[in-house]
Amino acid sequence: MSKCKGCGAEIVWIKTKSGKAMPCDTSKVIIVTDEGETVAGYTPHWATCPAANKFKKANMREEKQ
Ligand SMILES: [Zn+2]
Repeated sequence: MSKCKGCGAEIVWIKTKSGKAMPCDTSKVIIVTDEGETVAGYTPHWATCPAANKFKKANMREEKQ
């Protein structure tokens, strides 16, 4: 397990379908999809990180490529 460089919280690295590593919160959450299916998953850490502003800019730059 590693720690966020921005806020020091513990994070887990999830590999996305495209093979990229994504930092997520360590606690799993249950969500419901548009089809009414319940799935367990992780919250991307940038969604809850108090220091996320730095990362968001980097992520947006990545998405445009
Ligand atoms: Zn953080």
